[in-house]
Amino acid sequence: MLENFKERVPVKEGLFSWSKEPHGLIISKCSTCGELVFPKQEYCPECCTETMETEILSSKGILKCFTGITAPPPGYKGTVPYTVGIVEFPEGIRILGITTEKTVDSLVPGMEVEVVIDTAFVEDDQEFVTFKYQPTNMRRD
Ligand SMILES: [Zn+2]
Repeated sequence: MLENFKERVPVKEGLFSWSKEPHGLIISKCSTCGELVFPKQEYCPECCTETMETEILSSKGILKCFTGITAPPPGYKGTVPYTVGIVEFPEGIRILGITTEKTVDSLVPGMEVEVVIDTAFVEDDQEFVTFKYQPTNMRRD
């Protein structure tokens, strides 16, 4: 269905690894104090050093909480309704993201989710992709 689009590009460079599986979010880890930061950045917000190293997180985490969005926030170009959730990764960082589910009906706190790459919106013949959390019990292989 999406083969017609000219180009598939990430909404922002450096947020996630997306060209090959498994997909993972790109973070910075401070080699001085161990602080984890997403999105990646050069300065540690905790100890103010520049000793950040880039790492790719595990592709799976635990959905801690979530909510449904029915009115698009300013600047949002995707479709509504949609859901967002906070996922805790094994490395010890919690990151907010969109889930693949349109409503919260199929979401349960504590369920395992996987980072997948999906359409954020389409504009000027370009498909912009972003990371989303997909429950692993709904995997579409
Ligand atoms: Zn630090």
